[in-house]
Amino acid sequence: MTDYTGSLVIGWLYGTRMNIYGDRGNVLALAGRARWRGLEPDVREIGLGDPIPDDIDVFFFGGGQDQEQVAVSRDLRGEKGEQIRNAVERGTALLSVCGGYQLLGHEYRPNDAERLPGIGLFDVHSTAGPKRFIGNVIVNSQWGKLVGFENHSGLTYLGTGATPMGTVEVGHGNNGKDGTEGVVYRNAIGCYLHGALLPKNPVLTDWLIAAGLRSRGGAGTLPALDDSIEASAHASATARAIATR
Ligand code: GLN
Repeated sequence: MTDYTGSLVIGWLYGTRMNIYGDRGNVLALAGRARWRGLEPDVREIGLGDPIPDDIDVFFFGGGQDQEQVAVSRDLRGEKGEQIRNAVERGTALLSVCGGYQLLGHEYRPNDAERLPGIGLFDVHSTAGPKRFIGNVIVNSQWGKLVGFENHSGLTYLGTGATPMGTVEVGHGNNGKDGTEGVVYRNAIGCYLHGALLPKNPVLTDWLIAAGLRSRGGAGTLPALDDSIEASAHASATARAIATR
């Protein structure tokens, strides 16, 4: 059994607004893999105007269309963004994808709208590019090969203080130019990998869960699971990415 009792508290940022291309599956994967270790998942959706609870173990912030990002960017300004930054500094785990990722950097500049300030958690800047990057992605990372699906016009550039999630083997990644994908800061990850990402990349799911549990004082060791189905999904998605590169 796990060395924890109780729950895994998952803070789902803007779940009804920022939830495209299967991103809800990341919340299901976090909840399922916690439950299979004897933890009760407690999923709390944090919408516009809602406060940030102070007991979140793992945040998830999905992708969304540019127009949704306008309202969310406004909502994150001030105290709310600061609370998320402070939580990550305390060790809280976080996964953000695409539109969510962009708003956790310094800014996102859409093609036909005002500049959207981000909360500055990640040292990255994003701006809409002239075309959309759509397709399967394979990333070589500290967690091994990660496989996902990208659909973004945003181009994200890492600041000097930023560490990429990994390097692109198939697909475009952050900007289609520098070979990087995503960013990692402490236990927080930003990336362009939809799909959903976590169901077919269980090592990353467990890394987030363990980090979140450690942030409340646990040892962060999780019992192994039979990941044969997840491995099959990963292999299938990887083969498709290679075949369609
Ligand atoms: N602003 C995002 C983009 O770069 C919106 C799409 C998304 O979140 N997948 O296209």
